[in-house]
Amino acid sequence: MVYSHGHLNRGHNFASSPDISFFWNHVLGLWPFTTEGCPADEWDLEHPTWLHGLASQCVRLPCVEAPPELLHTIHRPEFAYGEPANTHAYFTPDTYVNRYSSTCARLAAGGCAAMAAAVARGEAANGAAVVRPPGHHAESGTAMGFCFFNNAGIAAKAAQAAGASRILILDWDVHHGNGTQHIFEDDPSVLFMSLHRHDSGHFYPGTGDANEVGYGSGTGYTVNVAWPRAGMTDGDYLAAFMHIVLPIAYEYRPSLIIVSAGYDAALGDPIGGCRLTAEGPPFNARPPFGSACRPCSLPRRSYNTFSD
Ligand SMILES: [Zn+2]
Repeated sequence: MVYSHGHLNRGHNFASSPDISFFWNHVLGLWPFTTEGCPADEWDLEHPTWLHGLASQCVRLPCVEAPPELLHTIHRPEFAYGEPANTHAYFTPDTYVNRYSSTCARLAAGGCAAMAAAVARGEAANGAAVVRPPGHHAESGTAMGFCFFNNAGIAAKAAQAAGASRILILDWDVHHGNGTQHIFEDDPSVLFMSLHRHDSGHFYPGTGDANEVGYGSGTGYTVNVAWPRAGMTDGDYLAAFMHIVLPIAYEYRPSLIIVSAGYDAALGDPIGGCRLTAEGPPFNARPPFGSACRPCSLPRRSYNTFSD
């Protein structure tokens, strides 16, 4: 996830405040959610060369578990996957837990919350949280799609508690952020915008039609760019950013932007089926956001280690 602080004022320049706060989950290597093993096993987590020196330029935040009272701002109190399981258990066919899962999920949510709060308090201009498990599919009472706690939602709550009044959550993962949308779709203090494959409801998770715009006082504060098929390119995303995402964002004038930054729309990803490159939006965030936002990190990886 990337947290970019800014009021989307045209011309605002963060060049004079280059600090980037950064967080990663120390127990990443313990994450045993895939039977094929986690790629993190190959990484030296204390000296992550895959970051190409970025970590040394960042302020590192302490790794903390999200407290229950913060989790419960999003999730139902009875949503009790907080106790470690002694054996594997399944929430859905693609989402299972073991004894490490509770700690990992709490650390991921806590790290995102700490990051967002730090940016909201002005302690850093931008931030990035590289955490597992992800969160945007997690509903208030349901774990699904590899997600347990809704990290972006919890980060938004933490940021609001730290003083950020209006939050933009931008979700560019190739899958719809169903959990995040449903949590905030009646809340005008959080604008949720998602770009994703929809395929007339036939692409996971099946939600995110363009007609889903929120309800009640939140009507209009949910925006879905629902791609009809695979194969979307840099040009498609650039058009969406220039004609939909940025005009709405500038009008909303968020005090904080949270990006659910999935990279499974990247060229070569076997699940996403799209063709985004590192040169185009959203991965190269500078052109679409202009000087109001700086790219920070590559949080949620593609399903294909070798995607461009
Ligand atoms: Zn995804």
